[in-house]
Amino acid sequence: MKLLYFFDEYIKPRVSRGLKFCNPTNSGILTERISCIRQNDVNIWFYNKNGTVIAFDSGHLNFPGLDAEFAKIKVDPLRIEYLFLTHADVDHAGGVDISGNNIFPNARIHVGKEEEQYLKGEMHRITKLKFIKIKNCVRLKEGYRLIEDGEIFWIDKIKVEAIHVPGHTLGHYCYLIDEKVLISGDCLAINQNGGYAFFDFFTQFPEMNKKSLERLEKLLSDKNIESVCSGHSGFRTDIEKLFAFREQSATFSRSNPFDKEAPRDFTKY
Ligand SMILES: [Zn+2]
Repeated sequence: MKLLYFFDEYIKPRVSRGLKFCNPTNSGILTERISCIRQNDVNIWFYNKNGTVIAFDSGHLNFPGLDAEFAKIKVDPLRIEYLFLTHADVDHAGGVDISGNNIFPNARIHVGKEEEQYLKGEMHRITKLKFIKIKNCVRLKEGYRLIEDGEIFWIDKIKVEAIHVPGHTLGHYCYLIDEKVLISGDCLAINQNGGYAFFDFFTQFPEMNKKSLERLEKLLSDKNIESVCSGHSGFRTDIEKLFAFREQSATFSRSNPFDKEAPRDFTKY
């Protein structure tokens, strides 16, 4: 098994126990337009308007029990034609990796153009102990669409604006839907106090991420954001505090968990 998939499936759930840094939202229909599927520590998001459903991120590789989760939110994954990835990490793009069961087999994958260097193995994803460089192992089927900063997609009557927010990875994107809903991926970690720059441990370039968050806050300042759908902090509507701690990286430890309301073991829910 590839290294980062092994970490994702076997190591991360064990070493994360008690750290309480992930608090995803359980699978369900949250508003008239927004629903989600939870896969342990991460969410896949769906936006639904007039019968058209767009998916954001695809979760882990070969995650079990998905039929029941799709039934809960009344979404047929075969009818998804558009998938937007916030980035190509194993927990967000694993669901459409060519080495596994593609959960959205009929969808065209949209991914930030700067993310392609990971998909081609030209860029490492993680450096540990200064010299150990680990590459992302996700591979996507041919025909994915690379997107650029500021691109706007109209899908039926849904507006999706792509915003480049590099740092977590070089091609990390957020998506603003209908000017009201932000898909934030892994640039922010959010708890009861507000939003922080995502955890350094998982972020490739933490200072770049903080700069990107400053820009993102400015870009969104004239918008009326109603909700944020995050990678690992669930569904949030406390928008006033979204960037409150963007200059600080979120931290976690057993004595000082990031989110007191998060589950101790994210595999049990
Ligand atoms: Zn993630």
